[in-house]
Amino acid sequence: MKQNTPIIYLDYNSTTPIDNRVLETMILYLNPNFANASSSHKFGLESNQAVFEARKKIANLISAEDNEIVFTSGATESINLAVKGIALANLDKGKHIITLQTEHKAGLDVCNFLATIGFEIEFLPVESDGILDISRLKKAIREDTILISIMYANNEIGVIQPIEQIAKIAKENNILFFSDATQAFAKIPINVKELGIDALAFSGHKFYAPKGIGGLFIKKGVKCQALLHGGGHERGLRSGTLNVPAIVALGKACEIAQAEMSQTQTYVEELRNFLEQELLKINGTRVNGSQIHRLFNTTNIQFENIDGDALIKALDYICVSKGSACTSVSVEPSHVLKAIGLSDDEAYQSIRFSLGKYNKKAELEETIEKIKLIITDFRNMLF
Ligand SMILES: *Cc1c(COP(=O)(O)O)cnc(C)c1O
Repeated sequence: MKQNTPIIYLDYNSTTPIDNRVLETMILYLNPNFANASSSHKFGLESNQAVFEARKKIANLISAEDNEIVFTSGATESINLAVKGIALANLDKGKHIITLQTEHKAGLDVCNFLATIGFEIEFLPVESDGILDISRLKKAIREDTILISIMYANNEIGVIQPIEQIAKIAKENNILFFSDATQAFAKIPINVKELGIDALAFSGHKFYAPKGIGGLFIKKGVKCQALLHGGGHERGLRSGTLNVPAIVALGKACEIAQAEMSQTQTYVEELRNFLEQELLKINGTRVNGSQIHRLFNTTNIQFENIDGDALIKALDYICVSKGSACTSVSVEPSHVLKAIGLSDDEAYQSIRFSLGKYNKKAELEETIEKIKLIITDFRNMLF
């Protein structure tokens, strides 16, 4: 990339920049405080203390206990640990797992893998607004259902699932409930105690911490099989020397999120609504998924007869995406948009805008103008 390119970044759901306050805190634990948090000398104890404090900040953010947080390399690993780990540790109870068709690929692929080793997976559909109809979940529950795995908020369309109701149904039926909360965590208030969630995955790079660090909340007493064996770190659930600088960064990002959550929401939501309302003034546009039960930073818009890839390319220095970053290497239409009833063509014509706290109104004004010009151009070529 050329230097000084005026990037307008509207792809926060795929990853975020690191908050400078996070970076400043983190860097001290690369150098000079590089000690291993498991070492018992004075130097190691300093690292250990930093990890302890970070863990407390993370637990605090979701009203969990310190010892219910396990550090991982990110949400993909957390999802693997939760779903495979719970499945393998609860074999005596059954082999039936319920999940959603609109989960992140990580959740879907873990379930597909489990299906190859004898588990039975029910991939529930969602309604046209992207939300699960609770009665479908009730009907899907069986005697041998051991786990419900349903994401908190969708990364492509931002819709928020009825987590409280799902948790309640899980509890009533003595089934464990895991939620991939990667997009909701540190954006909206989450109280795992009140909600009654058994396990919850999150990832630092979705909320202004670096890539390669994340975690799993796993409620005390929930049986889970470790996937990585070794030194017995993280209560035996995830061996491997702790990534202290990244953990410190994760803690700092949680502290900031907690302190600034409502002001960030107010600020970003207003920008998102402005962008959405202006784009909807263009002929042949509509929003994909619920506009009510939705993250405040996301809008996924279909531009009739406009090829999404061509639009992304024409937008050049304005960074948006077609859906999830993970699927944009493939030419398949988004499985999420298909699941809410879009045709292949409609899915290919849809763009995700995901905003964050560093966006400015002027950037959105520029984006809106540019999109209007591009679409006029494209449509003139067509007709
Ligand atoms: C980004 C994302 C993931 C994957 O997270 P990584 O930390 O990159 O592995 C999983 N689920 C959702 C909903 C996401 O948005």
